[in-house]
Amino acid sequence: MNYDTDILIVGGGLIGSALPIALASVGFNIIVIDQQSNKLKKARNFDGRAYALSHASGRMLKVLGIWDHIHENTQPILDIKVSDGRAGEGASDWHVHFDHQELEEGPMGHLLEDRYLREALRNIISETPQIKYLSDTEVVSQAVDALGSTVILMDGRNLRARVLIGCDGRSSQVATRAGIDRSGWQYNQTALVCAISHEQPHCGVAHQFFTPSGPLAILPLPNNKCSIVWTEAASRAEHINAMNDADYLKALMPFIGDFLGKIELVGDRFSYPLSLSLAENFVLDRIALVGDAAHGIHPLAGQGLNLGLKDIATLTEVLAIAQRRGEDIGTKPVLERYQQWRRFDTSAMAAATDGLNRLFSNDNSILRIARDIGLASVNSNPSLRRGFMRHAAGLSGELPMLLRGQII
Ligand SMILES: Cc1cc2nc3c(=O)[nH]c(=O)nc-3n(C[C@H](O)[C@H](O)[C@H](O)COP(=O)(O)OP(=O)(O)OC[C@H]3O[C@@H](n4cnc5c(N)ncnc54)[C@H](O)[C@@H]3O)c2cc1C
Repeated sequence: MNYDTDILIVGGGLIGSALPIALASVGFNIIVIDQQSNKLKKARNFDGRAYALSHASGRMLKVLGIWDHIHENTQPILDIKVSDGRAGEGASDWHVHFDHQELEEGPMGHLLEDRYLREALRNIISETPQIKYLSDTEVVSQAVDALGSTVILMDGRNLRARVLIGCDGRSSQVATRAGIDRSGWQYNQTALVCAISHEQPHCGVAHQFFTPSGPLAILPLPNNKCSIVWTEAASRAEHINAMNDADYLKALMPFIGDFLGKIELVGDRFSYPLSLSLAENFVLDRIALVGDAAHGIHPLAGQGLNLGLKDIATLTEVLAIAQRRGEDIGTKPVLERYQQWRRFDTSAMAAATDGLNRLFSNDNSILRIARDIGLASVNSNPSLRRGFMRHAAGLSGELPMLLRGQII
C-alpha cells in the first residue's frame, strides 16, 4: 500500500504545528494542511495575546528543542493571586495566594506571547525535512479504509497516510466528516483580550480576579507589560468592543485598580466568544483528534493549550511505542490507548473550568459568602494550596515521558 506520508494533520494552529515536531522527533513523516495563508501566520508585531505555559509544558518544549527559540521572551509566573470582588470596589478580603517557593520544581509556568511561539514552531518546521506544511488549502473530503486515510484537497490533490489527525479547532471538520458528535454550549460570555504597559512592576505575579460578569486575568509579560483576558457578558462585550481605545481603557481601569500605577493600552485588541465543545470520541479507526478539536474549554484557568500539549505528548508516546512493537499505528486499538489516557484529564478540566465559571460569574450574595469561605480555606491549607499549584503546573496525574522532560 502506497502512502504519501505516515501521518496527515489537518489544522496547523499551535497544536497542529507542535504535534508534527514531536512526531518527527520519534521518526515519523508528516504532512500538515492548514487553510490560513502563510502571510497571515508570519505577522510578527506585538499584539498582546499570550499563553500561560505550565511547568510540564515547558519541560516538553525543552526536550523538543522549541524552548531554545522562545526562552528569552518568556516571563516566569512566580505567584498567582486569586480573588473575588466587583469592578471599582476591589477584591474582597479573602483570596488565595499561590507562591512558587512552595513548589520544589520552581515557577508554576511561563507567560509567552503568541507571536513568539508561532514563529518558533514555524522555523523548526521549515528546518525539519520530515515535515511538509501545506498552507492556504483545505480538505474537501476524507475517506477511511482498512489500511489508511485519504483526503482530497481543494486543488484536487489526493493525500494518503496511515492515520489522519484533526487539529482543526473546536469546529473540527475532520470530526464532523467522520461523524463524531460534540457536546457543549455557548457561555454567552466574550473574552476581551488586550495588553497594557504599566508604571509599577508586576513582580511576576499573575492575578485572577473573579467579577460578577466573568473573570479578569492579569498575566505578566516581559518589559513591564501584562496581557489582559477580560471576560464579559456577550452583549456588554459587544458594546465595549465598539469603544475607542480611550473609552475602552476607562472601562477596564476599575477592574484593574491602581496597584500597577498608570496603565496604557499597547498593541491590538481581540475578542473571543466563549464556548465549551467536547468531542464524544477522540479516536476512530485511522482518525484521532488533538487539542481544541477534541476539547475546547473555558479559558479561565489558562489550560486549553496545555491540555493540547499533553495530548501531543501522549499520542506521540503511544504511536512511537506501537511503531517500535511493529503494530499498525492507525488502528483503533492503538489509538484508543491515547483516548483512554487523555479522556479523564480533559473531561475533569472541562468540568472544573465550567463549574468555577458558574460559581464565580454572578452576584449572588449567598454564593459570594460560599466563595469567600472556599478561597479562605484553600489559602489557609498548605497541602490543598500545593495540590492546586501542582495541578496548574501540569505536574499531577500520570504524565507521558515528554512532560516529564524525557526523550521517548
Ligand atoms: C482568550 C483566550 C486565552 C487563552 N489563554 C490560554 C492560556 O493562557 N494558556 C493555555 O494553555 N491556553 C489558553 N487558551 C486556549 C488556547 O488558545 C487554545 O486551546 C489553543 O490555541 C488551541 O489550539 P489548536 O491548534 O488546537 O486550535 P486552533 O487555534 O483553533 O487552530 C486550528 C487550526 O486549524 C485550522 N483549520 C481549521 N479548519 C480547517 C480546515 N477545514 N482545513 C484546514 N485547516 C483548518 C485553522 O486555520 C487553525 O490554524 C486561551 C484561549 C482563549 C480564547
